[in-house]
Order: sequence, then C-alpha cells, then structure tokens
Amino acid sequence: MANDAPWSVSKSAELYQIRGWGEPYYLAGEGGQVEVRPNPTVENTINLFELVKDLRARGLELPLLIRFSDILADRIKRINECFAKAIAEYNYPNVYRGVYPVKVNQQRHLVEEVVEYGKPWQFGLEAGSKPELLIALSAMQDTGGLILCNGYKDYKYIETAVLAQRFGKTVIVTLERIEELDIILKVSDATGLRPLIGVRAKLTAKGVGRWADSAGERAKFGLTSSEIITVVDRLAERNMLDCLQLLHFHIGSQISSIIPIKNAMQEASKIFVELAKMGAAMKYLDVGGGLAVDYDGSKTDFHASKNYNVDEYAHDIVYAVKEACEKASITCPTIVSESGRAIAAHQSVLLFEVVGTSDVLSLQVGELQPNAHALIKGLHETYQGIVGKNVQESWHDACQAKDEAVSLFKFGYLSLRERAEAERIFWCCARRIAQNMRRLRFVPEELQNLEKELASIYYCNFSIFQSAPDCWAIDQLFPIMPIHRLDEEPTVRATLADLTCDSDGAIDDFIDREDIKHVLEVHDVKDTEPYILGMFLNGAYQEILGDLHNLFGDTNTVHVRLTESGYHVSHVVKGDSVSEVLHYVQYAPEVMIEKVRMQAERALQAGEITIPQMRLLMRNYEEGLANYTYLTIDE
Ligand SMILES: *Cc1c(COP(=O)(O)O)cnc(C)c1O
Repeated sequence: MANDAPWSVSKSAELYQIRGWGEPYYLAGEGGQVEVRPNPTVENTINLFELVKDLRARGLELPLLIRFSDILADRIKRINECFAKAIAEYNYPNVYRGVYPVKVNQQRHLVEEVVEYGKPWQFGLEAGSKPELLIALSAMQDTGGLILCNGYKDYKYIETAVLAQRFGKTVIVTLERIEELDIILKVSDATGLRPLIGVRAKLTAKGVGRWADSAGERAKFGLTSSEIITVVDRLAERNMLDCLQLLHFHIGSQISSIIPIKNAMQEASKIFVELAKMGAAMKYLDVGGGLAVDYDGSKTDFHASKNYNVDEYAHDIVYAVKEACEKASITCPTIVSESGRAIAAHQSVLLFEVVGTSDVLSLQVGELQPNAHALIKGLHETYQGIVGKNVQESWHDACQAKDEAVSLFKFGYLSLRERAEAERIFWCCARRIAQNMRRLRFVPEELQNLEKELASIYYCNFSIFQSAPDCWAIDQLFPIMPIHRLDEEPTVRATLADLTCDSDGAIDDFIDREDIKHVLEVHDVKDTEPYILGMFLNGAYQEILGDLHNLFGDTNTVHVRLTESGYHVSHVVKGDSVSEVLHYVQYAPEVMIEKVRMQAERALQAGEITIPQMRLLMRNYEEGLANYTYLTIDE
C-alpha cells in the first residue's frame, strides 16, 4: 500500500499542496528543499534553502522577505498574453491595456519593476489616493501606460491629474462620487483644460466572499444609474460629453467564482453601450480588480481559491464586451483591468525561523509510586486501559480526574506536585487517545478538537501583525510550509505563534485540500540546525497593512533576479532598526541613552553597579537601538 511506503518528497508535495498553489513558480525539489523557478520559460531554479543561507552569510537575518522579480515579470506577461490571446481568438477590434493598482504594494522597487516589465504592453498604474497619484506620475516616465485616478478626490488631486495630461500622459480621473463632478468642472474652468473623465458605476451585480459589499446599491464607491445620467446631462450642457471616455466598476477583491464576474460584465457592458449612445466619447471599459489568487491550490470557489484561470477570465471579459458593442453597433473599447493581487501576490515569500516549541508530546507518564494518591492511581489505570477503538469512556474518565485534581488541590487535599503529576498523566492519556483515534472512521464530536489541543506550539521569529496582517484581520489563508527536510516525514502537528505578546498573534488555520485544517504538519526541531518555514504568495496588501505591534518593524527585504548562471541580489532594503521604529512613536534615541546613562551613573555612585557592568549595560542599550527589532538567534 502506498501509505506504507517510506516518506518521500512527493508525499510532502502532496501534503502541502505545493503543486496546487505553487505552480509554475514553486516546487518541492528532489533534494527535499523548496525550489523556485522564477521564470517558468527557462529551466533555471533557485534552491530557496540555499538562498537563505547565502543571504544570511551576507548579514541579512530572518525574518526575511524575498521578492522574485522574474515572477512579477511573468505575472505581468501572463495577464497581457491571456488578453492578447482572447482578443485574437474573438477578433476583437481593439486592445487590452492593464494597470497596476499601486495600493496593493507601493514599495518603490516593486512599482519601478512593474513599470519596467510592463513596458512592452504599455502597462499602466492606478492610484487610489493623492499620494499614490504622486507615485504614479513620477514612476511612469515615458512608457505610455495609462494613469487612472480612483479614490476620493479633492481639488488639488484633480488639478494635479489634469495638468499632468499636458505632458503627454493619459491620465483619467474617475468619478467615485457625484460631488467630484463639480470639482472637475471647477478645475477645468480654472485651468482652461479639458479633463479626461471616467465614471465608476455602482453595479447591482455583486462579487462573492469578503469583499462582496464593494458593489451593490449600498456600496461605498461609485455612482448610481441616476447619478450617471446627471453626469451625462451636465457634461452635455457644457459641451463636454467628449471628455467622458471611461466606464469603471470594481466588484471586490479575490472573486473566487467566475459567475459574478460574468454577471458584472453583462451589466457593465450594457451601461457602456448606453453611455456611448448618449453621446459620450467612450473609449475605455475598466473592469477593475478582483482577479483571484489560488492560495490553497484547490481550484474551487472556496474563498482562498478560485474556480477559473486568467485565460478564462480574459476570454469571458473580451467576449462580453464584444457581444454587447457589436449588437449595439458601437466601437469596441480598449479593455482595461486593475488586477492587483493576481500581479503582486506570487512574487514574495516570507521566511522565518522556529525559535522554540512547546509540546505535550514529550511528556511521560512516569512510574506509579506505591503511596501515590488514589486519584493518581486511577489516572494510571485509565492510561493503561486505553487500547483499541473504544476510547470515549477513557476520555471521560481522564477529564473527570483532571477536574477532580483541581478541586482536591483547592481544598488542600492534593499538593502542587501531585496536581502537576495528575495533569501530566491526563495529557499522556489525551495523546494516546488521539493516536488510537486516527484509526477511527468516525470521530466522536467531543473528541474532534483533541488533535488541535495536543498540537505543539512552534514559536516563530516574526510578527503576524507586521508581515501577514490579513491572517489576523480577516482570517486569510496563506500557504505555509517548511522549505527543507521535505524528504523526511513531518511527524509533529503544530500551530504557529509569533513574537508579539498578543494571543491573536498565532496561526491555527492552514490550507487543506478540503476546507481548512487547524494544525500544520512539521518536523521536530533539531538543536543542530535552524528550522525554516516559508509563507508564500504574500506579496499583495500585507506589506503596507502591516503594523508595528510590540514595535516589531519592517523585515529585511531583498530582490532576487535570475541570471544565466544563478541569481543576483538586485536590491536590499534593510528592515527597521529599533531606533527607526522608536522615532515613529516620537522617541529620541539620543535622549533615551542619556536618561539611562544618568541612572547608571547614580547606581555607580551608590556602589550598586561596577564600571564594567555599567559599560556592558550601555553597550547593550546602544547596540539594541541600532539593531533589528526581531530576535537575534545565537550561533
Ligand atoms: C483594490 C482595488 C483594485 C485591486 O483589486 P485586486 O482584487 O487586488 O485585483 C482594483 N481597483 C480598485 C478600484 C480597487 O479599489
């Protein structure tokens, strides 16, 4: 039977679903380590474990975020090629011009790479705020990509956008609220320029899942049908209908099913056609974001997955627009999409080390002493009696004894040492029950959580709040797995805890083939080598949403690019030092040093501390301020 065969890398690959979420970029290498193939069109791979070793040798400690530039390039290429293919297949008489929504990841090196890799397709940028517009204007030098202005806008935002059109950029201001029309008209009057205008429609078609409320009547953004008519009428009055050129909608992020996308396309295409018929010079249909990422690799409409691929997405969009426009005999528009997650998620991996474990698995029952308390004797008997499948009765006995131990202790009939022994044997019972239970087909309900209760806790050198805030905020799932030892069976089941003093700083939901699982299969941690876990596909939203809980700052970040013979590290962005983080909260490290020095000086005068002790303290304090905010792992 396959299950009795020795453990293998391919068993690990299946366990962690790496083919599902990782292809074509991440794979379980034959040597038992995760390999990265940043450019799927060439054979070169990078061994992730070796890469981490190399980077550490350069002084770049974990936690470490690695961005694979070639993966970003491939994502951009892929979406453009899929649209090009659909356009060719349907003989669509216009083009696709994607934009990257800057809000997904605003880091300069990344945005610059998006512009660089997007050049062949005139890939543009989308801004959701004034600061993001300022980024877009400086980043899109002369590449001809669109710059789309979304988000709530004030006079200066719109004025800046309209003026920037004068240096040869296609900057389109999309109305998110009807009030913005007045501002645009004012800007137009004051500058004497004719703005390019878009409208964001509030569709009745909704997305699915967490962001479903981004669309629908009660949505925060967009114009209702009657507001759109108002825009048309008012522009017509001023002879400015030719300025209205774009229709936009966005029905939410991570749309896991293709159905709502199709529905939205039908509704939006119809609005587009109507706008053109009313005389607007409609040139662009902007279908927003929402293209999902298959975080769990299941290829289903589960919220962490998606039941369609980029190819199908592009085909459905092109088809819907073509059909609606041809039926109405109007010119087919340039199709624009604002995919963020699908562009940026795959390229980055967070790597972190396990720094400690707590587990009940190593507890031993121990010898029964002849003079042991009756309760302890009873627990020993319960433990010995756990055989075969009938474990439920033993479970009841063990639970009862544990409760009784607490009562007896409270009333003084059991010593603290005896109570500790009772608890230890209880956990040994639980472990044995769980082991026997794994052979059961039906697990009684009261025992279903036992595996999780018995799981080890792996303490990891990172902060969820800084590096994966959506795990905490919205229970998002990211694929997590060890990046080495894949040829060894992972015999431990664990939940992960981060460094923060926050009980929410833990991960106990993991991807699974069906639904989710609450423990992750991991290896025992050896004293002799680090145990490194990777959290994958976290390039979208996590970096900027990350916060400074417990003052854990930005992690070290590197950009890695493939070369003929291997790779090179193109950018290193050192993580925050303690001083930098303290500055954010208004501390002045120099003043802090002085205050501590004065206290130490007083202690020295009082004979409480020696000069070498004082020197050591001050050195630690000053070095502490200059160092990384995460734990330093002793060699
Ligand atoms: C957030 C956002 C996007 C990006 O959405 P993804 O789901 O990441 O592709 C695109 N357009 C608008 C208007 C947005 O608010």
